[in-house]
Amino acid sequence: MDLGIKGKRAIVCASSKGLGRGVAEKLAEAGVNLTLNARTESTLRATADEIAGKYGVTVQIVAEDVTTEAGRLALLRAEPNADILINNAGGPPPGVWSDWGEEEWLKAINNNMLTPILLMNAILPGMIERKWGRVVNITSGSVKAPIAQLGLSNAARSGLTGFVAGTSRQVARHGVIINNLLPGSHDTDRTKGFIERIAATRNISLEEARAEAYAGNPTGRYGTAEEFGAAAAFLCSQFSGFIVGQNLLLDGGAFNSTMG
Ligand code: NAP
Repeated sequence: MDLGIKGKRAIVCASSKGLGRGVAEKLAEAGVNLTLNARTESTLRATADEIAGKYGVTVQIVAEDVTTEAGRLALLRAEPNADILINNAGGPPPGVWSDWGEEEWLKAINNNMLTPILLMNAILPGMIERKWGRVVNITSGSVKAPIAQLGLSNAARSGLTGFVAGTSRQVARHGVIINNLLPGSHDTDRTKGFIERIAATRNISLEEARAEAYAGNPTGRYGTAEEFGAAAAFLCSQFSGFIVGQNLLLDGGAFNSTMG
């Protein structure tokens, strides 16, 4: 399927690995020129070279922390006319509600709520002027069904979700479409780390820990970055213009509900 976005320009935050990279690959496959971002320059450069070589699109990199003002300014300087913005950053650390004080809360709110909001604030005016834009925020299934040990994520990302709910409906008439993608468990370095911690805590092998984790999902597995990237690319396509302010859960059916 031709997504109709060949030649568009995208900023993909936090994209040297994992879900961000999955999205970058699928946008590149659709012919989109990319500005990729991550903190570690070597991994980022390797990813950029691989994607540019495979898909023949232009790929530039901005090796900065997107959760800082300097990082965001560097991204905006490198790509001042983005047609597509993929908001993403590392998730907050696990813990329990009593672990987190003001410092931890401010960090989570900055990283997983304010950072995407500030990038949207900077990029939406240009999209509105050009009468076309697509924004996909990578949030989390924790917005819909709280994960006890990820209270920082449950809360900070819910704030972003509220912002998107209102804002998406104000910019849609200008051809600017904002949606959120909510990953459930996907095979990335982040979940690999979780599985390693479960194996160590329970003194079981990595394979056992992974098999248990997979068995808990209706599909019997975790999602892939490729599947995730394809869903995101569709939300960035010419055909997503009537999908506004939605929260699409990609979790293999793990959220048990008849509807919604
Ligand atoms: P991942 O595999 O650990 O990849 C994270 C990517 O983001 C890397 O490229 C990393 O590169 C970059 N990154 C992290 N912090 C950054 C920052 N401050 N500035 C710029 N780049 C940054 O993670 P993932 O699994 O793809 O997860 C992506 C997001 O989805 C996270 O917020 C996570 O909480 C959320 N999520 C994931 C899952 C899942 O199952 N995977 C489920 C629910 C929610 P550098 O380290 O070099 O910066």
